[in-house]
Amino acid sequence: MTNLEKMREKLQDQINYHNVLYHQKNKPEISDAEYDELKKKLAEIEAQFPEIYATQDSVGAPPDERFSKVEHQEPMLSLENAYDEQDVEKFLSKIKRFLIEDKIEILCEPKIDGLSFSAIYEDGRFVKAATRGDGFLGEDVTHNVATIKGFPKFLQGVQGRLEVRGEIYISNSDFLKLNENDEFANPRNAAAGSLKQLDANITASRPLRYFAYSLIGGAEKSQSEILNKLEALGFCVNEHQSLTSSLDGMLKFYNEVYNCRYNLDYDIDGIVYKVGRTGVLTPVADLVPVNIGGVLVSRASLHNQDEIKRKDIREGDIVTIKRAGDVIPQIVEVSRDSRLPNTPEFVFPGVCPECGSKVRQVEGEAAVRCPEEFACKAQIIEKLKHFVSKDAFDIVGLGDKQIEFFYDLDLIKQIHDIFTLEEKLDEFNLEGQSGWGEKSIANLLNSIQSRRLLAMSRGEAKVRAKTLGAKVSSHLSAKTDYLIAGEKPGSKYKKAVELGVEILDEDQWHK
Ligand SMILES: [Zn+2]
Repeated sequence: MTNLEKMREKLQDQINYHNVLYHQKNKPEISDAEYDELKKKLAEIEAQFPEIYATQDSVGAPPDERFSKVEHQEPMLSLENAYDEQDVEKFLSKIKRFLIEDKIEILCEPKIDGLSFSAIYEDGRFVKAATRGDGFLGEDVTHNVATIKGFPKFLQGVQGRLEVRGEIYISNSDFLKLNENDEFANPRNAAAGSLKQLDANITASRPLRYFAYSLIGGAEKSQSEILNKLEALGFCVNEHQSLTSSLDGMLKFYNEVYNCRYNLDYDIDGIVYKVGRTGVLTPVADLVPVNIGGVLVSRASLHNQDEIKRKDIREGDIVTIKRAGDVIPQIVEVSRDSRLPNTPEFVFPGVCPECGSKVRQVEGEAAVRCPEEFACKAQIIEKLKHFVSKDAFDIVGLGDKQIEFFYDLDLIKQIHDIFTLEEKLDEFNLEGQSGWGEKSIANLLNSIQSRRLLAMSRGEAKVRAKTLGAKVSSHLSAKTDYLIAGEKPGSKYKKAVELGVEILDEDQWHK
């Protein structure tokens, strides 16, 4: 085997691996762009051995074993990518050569990231639906597709066999609502995971949509005739489309899509403020959700009011953002050209959006704070969340959601309440609340118990503090940064909590 062949084999293995993750398990490990890069490299190598490797590769992954298989009468192919004008030109001349036709009709549509389906009708009756699978064999998802809202079950005046193909997807805004618990990587995976359910009732509960783009078995000749027919039969079709016959027309459509903010730019929908545990108001831009490299981006950090002034960011602006890792994306640039005239300048709020108190700007700092440290719900909840987080006490099973849950039930209003939760639950029927059972309650109480402050005598703590060069004071004030707590912390513990002093257990003290 030559080096090139070895490289090809390695690339093919990688691609197969990611295909299974993407198409079968709906858990991709790499972005779409990274995947495309692998495919491109493979195609480059294979292009050097045209006699060995046919240019038409199989798409997707073999069908999921849990579903019965459906053989496609005509293979379902995937889309080829073009990254620049040259790629598009090559594509166009290839088609013209293949069809031996110089005048061709091209229908342009923005790509919606979903999964392809095929639906079979016999004498107008919906009888079967399948996924693409590997392009030749798909998975039988008839019952699942039947639950999609508005999917036609009967077609008027249709005789014989008719096959409709299209895309099933979840809209960006529906995805944000569905994915509150970060179950899915992106809308495409959510759509695939929702469709491929053995229990069609689960599929029915998901906000799946579809549109149709192809018809096999009809009399229609051109793509525009097909789309008209599909619409007449009652199918949804992609509304953003344009018919052209030239490269210029295709590029014009691309630029239109690009410039009309349809799916490539970021549009600031509004600005929200997060109040942190120290009371600082952080402005965050709410973006019209956009799918970038398989990740749905809907927020960008604005840092503080100086930053907003400096970059002159306004509501409705089109912005360029930078995303790095899991960090909330940053706004790099604002496009002034696309701003509507008379868009008002940004005004930072004078009151806390959470509790309505007048905010204060600390001298010499850009940060604006809500002063109601002990009354502002947002600050209290953020403090509680921090306390139980990995960075602090790391109480397993007591996360952000549970903190909000117990806060709203008046069971945890301050840090002290966490350690007396067990007593409080004597008088509260937690098992009666949805999501809680005997076992999960026992687990939670155990994990709180395990993080309970470890015994350490006061004298011992003082000696250690002195060794470490810390100033030991026998009374607490708001200036105290940390309190080392023993097993029975008593009144000082309580006071420290009220003052917002951070409390260390023995483990942390050793650090
Ligand atoms: Zn507040």
